[in-house]
Amino acid sequence: MLDADFFRRWMTATAAAVDREAERLTALDSPIGDADHGSNLQRGFTAVAATLGKDAPDTPGAVLTLAGRQLISTVGGASGPLYGTLLRRTGKALGEAAEVSEEQLQEALRAGVEGVMTLGGAAPGDKTMIDALVPAVDALGDGFAAARAAADEGARATIPLQARKGRASYLGERSIGHQDPGATSAALLIAALDVASGVRGE
Ligand code: ADP
Ligand code: MG
Repeated sequence: MLDADFFRRWMTATAAAVDREAERLTALDSPIGDADHGSNLQRGFTAVAATLGKDAPDTPGAVLTLAGRQLISTVGGASGPLYGTLLRRTGKALGEAAEVSEEQLQEALRAGVEGVMTLGGAAPGDKTMIDALVPAVDALGDGFAAARAAADEGARATIPLQARKGRASYLGERSIGHQDPGATSAALLIAALDVASGVRGE
């Protein structure tokens, strides 16, 4: 079972990964965006980690709801409300239980990803974070390492796609040949689940 401490570790592992990869995320956002994805998420997840260090909610749902609210209020770019919605919806779906199963997390994340699709209007194949999140949630039934591998594969699979949502879509065919920054950061978020589970190191 996964308790509030697991969810705090998930968020702090995400913050550490975003810190480490911020330059790469911003570099990916340079040819098909406005070169701010790394700094946007760094600001957001630094605030999330600080908030969770001060105020430690005692249920999984409350940890994710607080983290999502923090992202929405600190990240200016499109990714802030989208990741904020992902975490808030997932947290809401987890309810008030003190511990949740991996199956419950999978179903809650599915609800969170659906919330992102509703808010942003993106479907799989549109070259967004959805392309890493959907296969990750599908693979979560096979464990965190499987979800991590599926998210990485989903992020790499955005390279040949033409962007149909977000800033990159303004480039039309010129968006082809670049990995989507949001799909790349979504893979970091999913990898952090595996890190938090302690099965594998960073
Ligand atoms: P901005 O585009 O406002 O500068 P960021 O650079 O932080 O915001 O985030 C860009 C990422 O957000 C994209 O790489 C993409 O994955 C994701 N994104 C943008 N628009 C959407 C959308 N409508 N639905 C899902 N994801 C989106
Ligand atoms: Mg950007």
